[in-house]
Amino acid sequence: MYIGVDVGGTNLKAARISEDGTIVERRTEAVARGSAAELFGRLESLIRDLDAGGVKGVGVGVPGIIDRDGRVRVAPNLGILDGQFVGQELQRRTGKPTFIENDANAAALAEAWLGAGGGVDNLLFVTLGTGVGGGLILNGRVWSGISGYAGEVGHIQVEEGGWSCGCSSRGCVETIAGAAGWGRVAEARLSGGRRSVLRGQDLTPERISEAARGGDPVALEVVEEAARALGIGIAAALLLVNVERVVIGGGVARAGAVLLDPVIRHTRKRLFPDLFADSLICLASVGGDAGVIGAARVAMVGLLGPVR
Ligand SMILES: [Zn+2]
Repeated sequence: MYIGVDVGGTNLKAARISEDGTIVERRTEAVARGSAAELFGRLESLIRDLDAGGVKGVGVGVPGIIDRDGRVRVAPNLGILDGQFVGQELQRRTGKPTFIENDANAAALAEAWLGAGGGVDNLLFVTLGTGVGGGLILNGRVWSGISGYAGEVGHIQVEEGGWSCGCSSRGCVETIAGAAGWGRVAEARLSGGRRSVLRGQDLTPERISEAARGGDPVALEVVEEAARALGIGIAAALLLVNVERVVIGGGVARAGAVLLDPVIRHTRKRLFPDLFADSLICLASVGGDAGVIGAARVAMVGLLGPVR
């Protein structure tokens, strides 16, 4: 048994998970945002509460950049974690071997293990939400780089002089394919006075992809722009790492085939035919539990290596 903990900006999810990935028991609560000490206290009692004996290790996914020493460099949506050594602190408190990982990297591991990866060892995970995150699995392990930035495909530049991005650059994939990007592209197209069912609507990716499925030309162009940005990012990533699977997840990916098909088209036209043919691009399939399952897998891989 392993415990997986998914620390989100809003919720804390934790579960005891068996070696085949089955969730045996789970807890969800609001995340403590007052101080790091308060959050560590909550995490400690959650872990003790879920440990019915026989728990070999604990994995924790956090929404931040984690360097190779296990220090949270920056957690934009949960600033109390900045500079904290979450794994070391929890291990000291609970006595259980504890491993920390970026949340997108943990979800990538869940997809490689049980999801759309279907047990592959090499995978790129792209998560589409407010931001565009990424996670890279190489030889069954997370590769996060020396300071934690590896796999951040959302910040590959696709428009020199494009919209400014939170990372300090401009025109990143995220500025077009993140949730806000969809809205900005739609607004720009609508300002030209064109007819569209989107006029006067909330310009969310959900609404836009629904309109695209209904054939609205403006909505289709917005999806096409997001797909082009993602295709450029994914093609660049594949040229670097040549992995066998690219999995696209996150809330915006619920757009489904209307987004996936043009992403595949835009990726294909930028790659060696052979390289493209060996990389299957598909939608995520683990769902809402990917965070806790991936975190548990982080602990399992940390203790046993990338076993099946
Ligand atoms: Zn950026």
